[in-house]
Amino acid sequence: MADAVNTLPFFYGNITREEAEDYLRQANVGNGIYLIRQSRNYLGGFALSVLHSGHCYHYTIEREPNDTYAIAGGKSHRTPVGVIDYHSQEMDGLVCLLKKPCNRPKNMQPKIGPFEDLKEKLIREYVTQTWNLMGAALEQAIISQRPKLEKLISTTAHEQMPWFHGSITREDSEPRLLSGPRTNGKFLIRQRDSGGSYALCLLHERQVMHYRVDRDGSGKLSIPDGKKFDTLWQLVEHYSYKPDGLLRVLTEPCSRPEGETGLIGRPPLPRDPPGITSALQNAAGGIFSKLRTVPIPGIKKNRGSRHTSDNLNSYETSVPNNQAASKDAMPMDTQVYESPYADPDELRSSTVERSQLFLEDGELGSGNFGTVMRGTYKMRKTEKQVAVKILKNEDNNQSVHEEMLREASVMQQLDNPYIVRMIGICEAENLMLVMELAELGPLHKFLQKNKQTSVRNITELVHQVSIGMRYLEEHHFVHRDLAARNVLLVTQHYAKISDFGLSKALAEEHSYYKAKGHGKWPVKWYAPECINYLKFSSKSDVWSFGVLMWEAYSYGQKPYKGLKGNDVMQMIEGGRRMDAPGSCPPEMYELMRTCWTYTAEDRPAFNVVEPRLREYYYDIAQ
Ligand code: ATP
Repeated sequence: MADAVNTLPFFYGNITREEAEDYLRQANVGNGIYLIRQSRNYLGGFALSVLHSGHCYHYTIEREPNDTYAIAGGKSHRTPVGVIDYHSQEMDGLVCLLKKPCNRPKNMQPKIGPFEDLKEKLIREYVTQTWNLMGAALEQAIISQRPKLEKLISTTAHEQMPWFHGSITREDSEPRLLSGPRTNGKFLIRQRDSGGSYALCLLHERQVMHYRVDRDGSGKLSIPDGKKFDTLWQLVEHYSYKPDGLLRVLTEPCSRPEGETGLIGRPPLPRDPPGITSALQNAAGGIFSKLRTVPIPGIKKNRGSRHTSDNLNSYETSVPNNQAASKDAMPMDTQVYESPYADPDELRSSTVERSQLFLEDGELGSGNFGTVMRGTYKMRKTEKQVAVKILKNEDNNQSVHEEMLREASVMQQLDNPYIVRMIGICEAENLMLVMELAELGPLHKFLQKNKQTSVRNITELVHQVSIGMRYLEEHHFVHRDLAARNVLLVTQHYAKISDFGLSKALAEEHSYYKAKGHGKWPVKWYAPECINYLKFSSKSDVWSFGVLMWEAYSYGQKPYKGLKGNDVMQMIEGGRRMDAPGSCPPEMYELMRTCWTYTAEDRPAFNVVEPRLREYYYDIAQ
């Protein structure tokens, strides 16, 4: 795994090729000594440097689209370490076998590149400004979407750099470089066209040299015949330490005139992002308002400019023209990321006026209690697409009625982006529970129908469920019916936990809920202590989460297929567990097995499970 690389003693981080050569030579142990460093031109890639017969050779370990690693054109491996292990046995194109790692000097940590320092700040500013998020909603957006956010930031961060002057002409660029001290190596980058080609303008002996920076078919940037880079800032970093074909190295960034942004024809934001501004010593701000300018139907823009009567969550299934854009939509782009009452102008109420609720034809689903219909709820400022659970009239007996009110009272206490929120209860011709709409329906059914869903996508969704479950654990709620059927999808990249019919709030002093007796239970999802001692805790939810993971990685298959509840219990008591689903990554199967630890005390809590999933997801999603 890429993350594991950071902990290797022979990983040096963001050092240059020359620094790598110095370390290898200083080690002075002969042929085949090697180290790994971060690639300075491929995002998420590494470089392998090896010494042979007095020369240093450098190979890029590329991250391939299917999440494997390989030295360009070579055999693919699951991890960069796999590449190293392989080339310790096989030369296969390398100059020699890798014989001995060159470990970092004592007390030296892998070097962090200048962009790494900035990234965190940039991501925060981006999320705050793009979606108006604060507090827990901001943190959870970052946790669940970090890989995508990092990619966005990496490929647009140049717009914040003082040396990026946007779309100015060649003629305009020259006076900028010639004004003030005419330091050799002073430089700026300008945009040549909207297709992503740029020009690097460099001051050399009082003359301005213009180098084209073209983008190839795969999106890589390079000056003619030069090294290829994923981003402009990597290109600048490279030519700042090495001329490599230019007349000289880049020295001093030529700053944009005050008040001008790196954006083309776009005025600065009224409110500068102070963190970034100071970090970059850059007077201009405002890239983040630009990054999502293409409106996606049904996807909210910033608060205050939400769409009102549109088909809020219908992307991916019913907006074919926008499929590409909506596929990339993040949870924060939807109307159900934040609480329906996050807007202080909306009245928070647990009851829904019947006159404000409009039911539509067509069922979303059904259950024991009745049906779930799609509807629209008119709030003060907006209209919201909702799902309405309607109690069957003939079932208007007191106990079912109470059950539904109990479910509503649990839901009302929960407010998390990865949990279906209740909007309110409506007591009218029937008792109705009005909830956020998760239009793509239950996870298992979605995966049964969409077998092409990638492991990365499944991991993203399962990770979101673990975020929601971690929230429940922290707030002392036990779900008691966690299963893929009760995870609903808002989009292909956004999951919410639902169905709180069996859920319980735990009293402060208790870590578990003791049921009064056996009920109509989903025993295949239940931990041994639930069946044997009627004890339900967040740890028993962890067991169920393991089964849910199994369902997800098996694309919605039934767990313990063909077995009856009793057989399953015997199997568990006998120490046996389900096998790994066919396409399940070993790391995820191992996590499932940990969730199926027999004794609740020894089983990890969600505050352990979630970070483990997060680490794996970031790793494969980089
Ligand atoms: P169970 O039989 O598991 O107890 P239930 O009777 O409590 O289920 P739900 O699981 O809450 O019923 O809902 C039944 C179906 O209705 C779901 O499988 C789903 O297809 C649909 N549904 C429920 N809530 C929503 C929602 N918020 N958004 C979209 N569809 C929903």
